[in-house]
Amino acid sequence: MIWKEILIRYGELSTKGRNKMDFIRRLRENIRHAFADLGHLHIRTERDRMFIAIENEAQMQTLVAGLPKIFGIQSFSPVAACEKDIESMKKLAITIMETFKEEQHTFKVEVKRTDKTFPLESHAIQREIGGYVLPHFKNLSVKVKKPDIELRVEVRHDATYMMAQVISGAGGMPVGSNGKSLLMLSGGIDSPVAGYLMMKRGVRLEAIHFFSPPYTSQNSLEKVKVLANELTKFGANIRLHVIPFTEIQVLIKEKVPSNVSMTTTRRMMLKVADQVREEIGALAIVTGESLGQVASQTLESLTAINAVTNTPILRPLISTDKLEIINLAEKIGTYETSIQPFEDCCTIFTPASPKTKPKLEKVEHYESFSDFDELIERAVKNREVYIFPKKEEEQKQDKFADLL
Ligand code: ATP
Ligand code: MG
Repeated sequence: MIWKEILIRYGELSTKGRNKMDFIRRLRENIRHAFADLGHLHIRTERDRMFIAIENEAQMQTLVAGLPKIFGIQSFSPVAACEKDIESMKKLAITIMETFKEEQHTFKVEVKRTDKTFPLESHAIQREIGGYVLPHFKNLSVKVKKPDIELRVEVRHDATYMMAQVISGAGGMPVGSNGKSLLMLSGGIDSPVAGYLMMKRGVRLEAIHFFSPPYTSQNSLEKVKVLANELTKFGANIRLHVIPFTEIQVLIKEKVPSNVSMTTTRRMMLKVADQVREEIGALAIVTGESLGQVASQTLESLTAINAVTNTPILRPLISTDKLEIINLAEKIGTYETSIQPFEDCCTIFTPASPKTKPKLEKVEHYESFSDFDELIERAVKNREVYIFPKKEEEQKQDKFADLL
């Protein structure tokens, strides 16, 4: 096997000054967690890069397939190694360049000679390897500035290391490096995407879902569980808090005029979410709201809804068009689940003509005739909590079967 290690270049975290070591440690832990199935990985960290030792071909393939999902990685490169003699080096260079033989490419060889006792100097090594590789491939030509492929050769004390491929990472910051937030997760398209974007900025998530049986079916809850599980692919466990919301919704329907009932529903959701947020020690609440998407997402509505708390509400999709959100949902793999046609608790109670510009004083006035606080406390107390990811076997059994 030619592979020796994978070199990982950090994303934005390299600029993070004194927090840098924390970020690096977090990234290393997230990688270990994501690839726990591979057993103990040997990971060596430096200021600007990290190395994972490779023990076999299968391990290499698993890492190359999975690393692009881990936030905090700008790019990574498989590194091959060989003996420190020029014949072995030439042979390895050919093996690596074989990977690119399908298309036309420009290339150059870049040599770093860390071991100064090696008999050839950098230029000579460069000429030897370049001159040997070039005639082997019809589709290669040399270009010194910005070539398509830079074959990097490093002669270290223990061996010669080579790499040519730079694979893009997911960017962002390691999940957990920017604290914890509570994601309001409906079964729709938007909220999983909002969760993904916050994870990309290093936020660890717990999720909360409002469930109103029998008005919403068990299927719609299963769909939310699948979505929560999907989000764990991006590097962290997620706890899902399922709130029994029927009692509150029924009271709203009875006591609040229908044209502002949607505003009140959102306000009650936010109150419940804020209590759970406090219990779990999260600092912010995340929603999938997008400005003007529906009546409850105008600036006036958002103002009236927001008035129940001072907690920061993060709305990563606020300026995003629906089509852009759909594209992202497809990219991260949540779209197919989101479009399964199960009603959520809001569609059933949605009034025919909700106000797009609700007045806060009026909404507060209508709410003042009922004791919502007691119901809110009960809903928080009676929530059910699920932890994801589920184990492989459990997932296989109930992934889509339960939805159909
Ligand atoms: P999504 O926005 O996820 O596609 P949606 O469009 O059906 O679902 P909206 O009516 O746009 O939902 O709700 C706006 C936001 O409020 C959602 O993105 C989500 O963060 C939150 N939300 C709505 N319904 C629920 C629910 N039943 N449980 C948890 N959060 C919810
Ligand atoms: Mg929406």
